[in-house]
Parts: sequence; C-alpha cells; structure tokens
Amino acid sequence: MNGYSHLNGSGPSAQPDSGNPEVVVPLGPTNQPRVLVRSLTDNEAVFHLSGVELAYANSVRRVIMADVPTITIDQVSFHQNTSPVPDEMLAHRLGMVPLISRGVTDGLRYTRDCECDEGCYYCMVTLKLKVSYMNGEPGNFMSVTSDMLEVIPSPNGPPAPNPYGPTPELSPDDQQIIQNRDPDLGMPVGKGNPAVPPILLAKMSLGQEIELVCKAYKGIGKYHAKWSPLSAVGFEYDPHNKLRHTTYWYETDEKAEWPLSTNANFEQPPDPSEPFDYNAVPSTFYYNAEGVGAVPVRDVVDKGLDILVKNLAEIILAVQKETGGDEEDEEDVGGIVEPDMGGGGYDAYGAGGAPDWSGGGGYPGPGGFIR
Ligand SMILES: [Zn+2]
Repeated sequence: MNGYSHLNGSGPSAQPDSGNPEVVVPLGPTNQPRVLVRSLTDNEAVFHLSGVELAYANSVRRVIMADVPTITIDQVSFHQNTSPVPDEMLAHRLGMVPLISRGVTDGLRYTRDCECDEGCYYCMVTLKLKVSYMNGEPGNFMSVTSDMLEVIPSPNGPPAPNPYGPTPELSPDDQQIIQNRDPDLGMPVGKGNPAVPPILLAKMSLGQEIELVCKAYKGIGKYHAKWSPLSAVGFEYDPHNKLRHTTYWYETDEKAEWPLSTNANFEQPPDPSEPFDYNAVPSTFYYNAEGVGAVPVRDVVDKGLDILVKNLAEIILAVQKETGGDEEDEEDVGGIVEPDMGGGGYDAYGAGGAPDWSGGGGYPGPGGFIR
C-alpha cells in the first residue's frame, strides 16, 4: 500500500504468544518494538510504535507528558503591581510561561534534593520583571509580555575564579550541574525570536508599573500540568476500529460522520466478509506529541523512555525483593532491566480502550489533571 504496511501487525507477522496461547501479541518482523518516525521538528513528533502491548504504549504516552522534568515559575514576589491584573492572576499567568529547560535533568537539582533553604543556583532559576509605562499618550496601552522577563543570577552560585589563590573547590555534584547547565536555562521560550510571538501577561495604561521577582523550579507534569514539556499528545490505535473497542454514535451515516484519521492510511481497511476476530489485539500505536518549546520533543521522548525503563526496572527489583527471586537473576539485573515485551499473560484491553485523541489532560491549565 505505502511501504509501511508491514507495521500493521495484524497481518502475516502476527505470532502466537508463548506465555498464553489465547492472547496473540503481533510483533514486528524482528520480534522487537519498532518505531517509525513520520515527521519530527523541535516542537512536534509524529511517530508509530509497534510490537508492544497497549498498556506499554499508553505508559509511553503518560510518561512523556507527566514524568519528564522541565522548569517553571512556581513562586512570585510582588514588589509593585499597579496594573489592572491582580497579583494572583498575574502569578498564575507567569506559571504558564514555558521556560527553556534543555538538559534540566542533569543541569538542575530538585529543590527537595538541595541543601539550601530558599533556593539557590543549583536548584532554581530567578527571573525579574520590571516594567513601567511612564512616557506615552494618555489613553494608549502598553503590553507586558513574557519577553520582558529577564533571567537574573540565583543566590549562592559558583564563586568567581580567584586569580590570586587556588580555585575554590566544589563538590562533584555541584560541578556536574555546572557542566550540564544550559546557558539559556530559564529563558522564556521564543524570547528574542521575532518568529515566535511573545505571551501577553498584562496591559497597562499610563502611570502603571509592575515589579516582581519569580522563582522557577524543576518539576514534573504529574505534580502540576504547567511542568509538562508537551501541550498535547495524540494517541490512537486501530483507526478502522476493527477491534471494536469503541462504538460510534451517529445520526444517519457512521462513515460520513466519523471521518478516518490520517493514521488509517497506514493500516489495511477491514474486509466486511471477514468474521470478527475477538482474539485480535492492537499492534501499532500512533503518537502525535506537541511540545511547548521548553525541551525539543525528541529529547522528551528519549528521556521519557529512559524514565519508563528505570521505573519498570524498579518494579522488577521490588518484586524480586518481595518474592525472593533467585540471586543469579538479581546479578543479571545490574540496575537496568530490558522489559520483556512479549510476555503479556493478561488481557489489558478489556477496559474500553477507545481511540483517544484527547492526550489525557495535557493542557497546562490551572489545577492540571493527569489521567
Ligand atoms: Zn538549592
């Protein structure tokens, strides 16, 4: 059809699963998870994942939305605000501004892991906003935007080199953070780039001013959606609904009222004469990850997979500890375990896995809710 049809695992590549003869887990030709990247930019990745179970594919979606860290403004000290926007509302809007967070995994510490009391260079980025509208025509307005936020040095940074004595000594942890820290860390996304329109924070009329200091900390979307590196993740499988995981409501014509997504081009359309295969399971999963610009989407997916492997390894270790798994196995583990994709001995698809393009709460709104 289009060169990708081998990814449709419900074809001849489907193989019986050795663990449970009733569950067929279709795998790619190499019996390994396969990824096809359809398009990739800094802010959007469209890719297919096949040869894994639905539960794993959904975990990937959730991890890239809610477990990959970024930095975001979390505390604001107001020194002056005579604008019409109340302090609380302005603080909330500041929290929504995406900040450049490249390399934040190794380039900044979580505040809870830091020895400081109120945030320091190693766990916090400080930003300042000081604007006033003093010279202008009465009746005109001034737009206060995210581009006016300035990164200022956080307290207790590395000491300046001393030309008259030995270089001050830093702990290996601190040195690692200094090495991995991105020079643009904490800058509002798109600042200085005329192609990216800045985010409007407030409008002021003549004689009004705003002066505030923001503390931006490292965090994850599970804690609050403002830390999510992605604004939305499209997630779909079985675009033809061959598995009947969903029932379409329609008025007169189901096909006309529910147009197929572009992902349907990558699968064989159903053959109406074929009997329904109630043993079939989804094999290829379609993702459309949209970033907010804080971290390139490719890095988000890479980092998300690292986190998922680590989490799975921790579960395996915990289970082994609980059940007293044999010692040879534990030696093989060595901290990171390759999860066994083929061994799904349970049915994870019963709970109404309808095709879901909502991204499950990726919108960084107030009180972020992650499914
Ligand atoms: Zn600190």
